[in-house]
This record gives sequence, C-alpha cells and structure tokens, in this order.
Amino acid sequence: MANESDAPHPSIDKYARHVNPAFVKLLGVFGYGRVFVRARDCVLVDHQGREYLDFLAGFGSLNLGHNHPRVVERLREFLLEGAPSIMHVGPSVHAAELAEQLALVAGAPLQVTLFSSSGAEAVEAGMKLARAATGRRYFLSCKGGYHGLSFGTLSIAGDPRMKKSFPPLMQECDEIPFGELDALEKEMAARKYAAFIVEPIQGEGGVNLAPPGYLRRAQEICRRQGALMILDEVQTGMGRTGKTFAFEHEGFVPDVLVLAKALGAGMLPIGATLTTKELHGKAYGSMDKFDLHGATFAGNALSCVAALAGLQVLTEERLADNAAARGEQLLTGLKKRLDGHPLVRDVRGRGLLVAIELGGMQEKGFLGRIASSLTDVVSKKVFGQWLALRLLEEGILCQPASQQWNVLKLEPPLTVTAAQVDRVVHSIASILERYRELGPLMKDVAERMGKQFLAGNPFG
Ligand code: PMP
Repeated sequence: MANESDAPHPSIDKYARHVNPAFVKLLGVFGYGRVFVRARDCVLVDHQGREYLDFLAGFGSLNLGHNHPRVVERLREFLLEGAPSIMHVGPSVHAAELAEQLALVAGAPLQVTLFSSSGAEAVEAGMKLARAATGRRYFLSCKGGYHGLSFGTLSIAGDPRMKKSFPPLMQECDEIPFGELDALEKEMAARKYAAFIVEPIQGEGGVNLAPPGYLRRAQEICRRQGALMILDEVQTGMGRTGKTFAFEHEGFVPDVLVLAKALGAGMLPIGATLTTKELHGKAYGSMDKFDLHGATFAGNALSCVAALAGLQVLTEERLADNAAARGEQLLTGLKKRLDGHPLVRDVRGRGLLVAIELGGMQEKGFLGRIASSLTDVVSKKVFGQWLALRLLEEGILCQPASQQWNVLKLEPPLTVTAAQVDRVVHSIASILERYRELGPLMKDVAERMGKQFLAGNPFG
C-alpha cells in the first residue's frame, strides 16, 4: 500500500489548512490522530496499516458495515447502465421504486416520501410539512435531543452549546424533558403546536431511553391536541434497535417518520421523510403547492439505488435480528463485567445502540458531595474521551455521545459478530478494572496529555 507508512499522511496538513484546523489540533491534544484509508465490514485500516474494529460506524450510518459488497456491486452496475441520475422534469424511476419500498417496510399509513440528502434536511422537511398541514406555528421538542445543525433543527436542539453562537433562531420552539408525559400533556394543552419532534432513543444526548409506552402515549396526546408527532429515526432506524424501525417496539406508527444516515447503505447521502397521503395532500397536494418542498439532489438516482440495495441486504441478511442478538450480548456482557464498578453509573441501550455512563457514585455528607461533584466535572470533560482513546490504542474505535462526554457509545455495524462483541466487552472491562478510582485515571490522563504537549501535540 503506497499510503501505509510511518510518515505523516499528507491529508493531515491539508485538512488542517483547508477544512477544520481546530479539529485537527484537538485530535493532536488527545493523541487521537489516525487517517483511515481502507474499510471493509466492521474493520477500518489506518495509513500505517493498523486495523480497528469500528464500534462507531459513522455515528450509526454504517448498519451494513463499510463497503458492503452487494451495495458496491449494485452501484458499479448502475454507473455502467447510463441512466440519468439527476432529472427534474419527470418522475424519477429510482426515487419511485425506493418510495414504494419504503412505504412497504414502514407500513400503512406512511405511504408518501419527501426525499433529501441529510438528517437535518429530512427533519426540516417534517417541520415544514407540519406547519403547512396544520396551519400552526409552534414546535415542541425534548431537552437533550439532537436533530441536526441547520437553522430549523438548531432551533429545536436540546443542547444549548450547539445553539449559542447563532441567534436568533426560530422563536416558536419550546422544550420539555424527554420521557415525561405530564410535561407533554401540559404544553400540548395550549393547542398551538404544529408538531412534537422526538427521537425514540436520544442518541447524541447520551443514549437515553424513554419508559415503555412513552411514544405511543405521546402520540395520543398530540392527536388529541391537533399536533403531529414527528419521530426522528435518523440514528435508530434501519435495524439498529433490533427492528427495522424503533417505533415497531411500541406498537404505534408516527405521523411523520424521519430517516437518513444508514438509509444510504453507508455510502451515499440520502434522507427521507415519510408521512401519510392525507398530510402530504394538505401540505403539497395541489398544483400550486406541489413544488413548495424539494431540492436539487433530492431523490437522485445514485442515492436511491444505494438505499434500495441497502434495504435488500438489511432484509435478506436479517440484520435487525442480528442487531437484537448481538446487542443483547453486548449489553449483558458489559453489565456483568462492569457490575459494581465505582466509576460506572449505568450500562444501557437497545439493539446495537448501547452506552456506558461513566461517573462516580453520589457520595453523602459535605466532603462526599464535594468529591462527587469533582468526579462529575472530571467525568463530563475527560472520562469518555480518555476511555475512547485507550480503546483506540487497543484497535477499537468508538466515541462518547457528542452531547454527553461521560457516556461512551457503542454502535457497531449490524453485521458485527459474536467474537467481535466479546473482544470489545473484554477490552472495556480490562481497561476499567485497572482504574477503580479517579486518582490513577487522572494521573494517566495528565501523563498522556503532558507527553503529547511536550512532543508538540503531534497528530498521532
Ligand atoms: N437526527 C438524529 C437523531 C441524529 O442522530 C442526527 C445526526 N447525528 C441528525 C438528526 C442529523 O443528521 P445529519 O447529520 O445527516 O444532518
């Protein structure tokens, strides 16, 4: 391999100069830097030829693993067919085919799809649809939620840090705690909301699970008060939680279902916003409204072909079932090995969206409380990143939840094997067994960062 050498990869400097300097610097401070040059299924290879098990999977985008051979083959075939990929003056063959397949897997009454190219865009499509269909202006969402970084989705973001550089955002947005039906009932009584936008499991907010029955009851409340329920399955969809869609666990169907990430089979950008014929008709069903939503790349053939191939693989290889089985193995394995660990607060998840919440126990008494809050601060700032770095050094890639750095997320491709899950459980448990108190852990963090600093924070 021409690229596999000890020399710094040329992209590091180019990326720092032309894409994101602070990101490259941060990777250096943590000693995190790797340039990944090849990938297949659950394995990534860096430019020095080192292999990593990918338990990050593009933040949940690689449900089929990297470069699934059947998707690659179908894309190769398509590129040689000579069909038009972008064309806006007639029905697109591949968009029509994909929309039909999505309607089949999502089931009635979700029969119409608005296409887009990202999760944020697909959530925004749901928000626009809700305003146009209900004639109402307000949106309700949850604290800790994540729906993207466009202006509309930032307006409903549950993390103040992400919003504070960009005011003014949309004013007509309120938020309530995730999982609390009383709060929803109270807000909805105002009958001013076009929609309640919610994730089945808050991914970036720290893999927060709602109590069973929450989503179904939330929809009943929304219905009673004339609001739509927009379910953001950008991260939970396409088999991740052990069913094709997470709403299937709850025995209800949302008014609007938002998909992206893994819908593109890990290769092409695509978002989809599914809704009912009736709601779509209200918003865009007349000849003077048919073009009020759309985008140049929405429904482009190449992305649709990838999604169609991906859907086929997902069904034929029964990947949702594998997610359920391997997820159970991961969750119970971690629970067993980490039970009683003084720095592990919780192990939770569903299917292959699993998390370890790090942090000390709540101590009693004055000094105890000071110690607890110190542990909290340290955990929130460094603990998750430190564990992710230790795992990276053992050839396992994962990351803390982007809005909760003390929560280490594990979300491998759904093709992951039992042996790979065992290896990850073993590595995590073995590292944490060596650090049962914060003192030695902080010493290790300081030594590593000090070494990096003295070396001039080199990238790798
Ligand atoms: N919704 C959820 C639940 C997500 O996890 C994400 C991405 N992490 C998004 C929306 C935004 O998707 P995108 O980055 O493709 O805009």
